[in-house]
Amino acid sequence: MDLNEAAKNPYLLLTPGPLSTSASVKKVMMKDWCTWDNDYNQLVQEIRQKLVRLATRDADQYTSVLMQGSGTFCVEAVIGTVIPKDGKLLVLTNGAYGERILKIAQTLKIDSVQLDGGEVSLPDLNQLDKLLKSDQKITHVAVVHCETTTGMLNPIKDIGEIVKRHNKTYIVDAMSSFGGIEIDAGELGIDYMISSANKCIQGVPGFGFVIAKIDKIKHCNGQARSLSLDLYDQWRTMEENNGKWRYTSPTHTVRAFYQAMLELDQEGGVKERYKRYHTNQRTLVKGMRKLGFQTLLADKFQSPIITAFYYPENEKFDFQTFYDQLKNKRFVIYPGKVTEAKTFRIGNIGEVTPDDISKLLAAIKESMYWVNYQTQ
Ligand SMILES: *Cc1c(COP(=O)(O)O)cnc(C)c1O
Repeated sequence: MDLNEAAKNPYLLLTPGPLSTSASVKKVMMKDWCTWDNDYNQLVQEIRQKLVRLATRDADQYTSVLMQGSGTFCVEAVIGTVIPKDGKLLVLTNGAYGERILKIAQTLKIDSVQLDGGEVSLPDLNQLDKLLKSDQKITHVAVVHCETTTGMLNPIKDIGEIVKRHNKTYIVDAMSSFGGIEIDAGELGIDYMISSANKCIQGVPGFGFVIAKIDKIKHCNGQARSLSLDLYDQWRTMEENNGKWRYTSPTHTVRAFYQAMLELDQEGGVKERYKRYHTNQRTLVKGMRKLGFQTLLADKFQSPIITAFYYPENEKFDFQTFYDQLKNKRFVIYPGKVTEAKTFRIGNIGEVTPDDISKLLAAIKESMYWVNYQTQ
């Protein structure tokens, strides 16, 4: 098969990762790499430096660590490594990914407490302040930036101010926002920021990464509750052996990620990517409302990453049928994840343009004719 043909997307993924990648990102995976070869390790080092520069202007105070596995493995590596034996984690939750952080802590038998905001509202900052005052055992606070369950954007700056005022370590799961929304970890007081290859940087799945404050991570020796997910040991190995991973690394994925980072620069950096995602999202919501759909979240809470829509009131509406019809028209959407309401989700990230969104809207309109026709 012709490589150019093969690299074309059979359909557009409107999902929050894995997502549609460019043909050029896919093409660079055609070469095999040796994990101890200098060319490969140099590539890893360049990625690590680029990530730190992307994450903050205070690049000298931060480092980055790459970790095999999907994004969750990276979250687990952070939670399992950076909290000392006598530490306690407070997790702010308003969706499935916040809940997952809590579950990781519980599984690893780390002392933890939850402050839940429900699924469609922001965390209560007064409560956060009170809790940090009353529970002196808390050492670490974790929150998800873009809660991909709903598309909610949590106020990581305001949360950070409170966390820092109480002198706690601040962990942010920026999985679905890093690279798509401007964040300066230094400015926001973030100590550990987590993301992965297959989200807004627009690479393929296989590893995640952590932007870590050097002053924090350097004290984490011997704390990990897992061998393969020891974030500290992975960091030291990369630092001391010029970008070497401890165990087999996803070489093709890493090469693709490097290409994806170059393409982020070519697009004009995070600022321009944000603009594209934002235009995608506004185009989508405007068009969907015209078709009678309602968003789960109020606009003021909504991220440009992904949007949750209520099922239409039409009783005949069947998500699987709707999904299949759209897939036939080469668009793949995402089922809902909230517990309280029947929803589906449409993502805006990846190699997706406002023009694609307009075409999607036309396809949805056609599919809805069909649903409505059935009810007559
Ligand atoms: C994608 C995502 C993760 C990680 O999910 P994986 O399936 O393990 O890659 C974690 N947190 C958020 C907010 C996410 O969007």
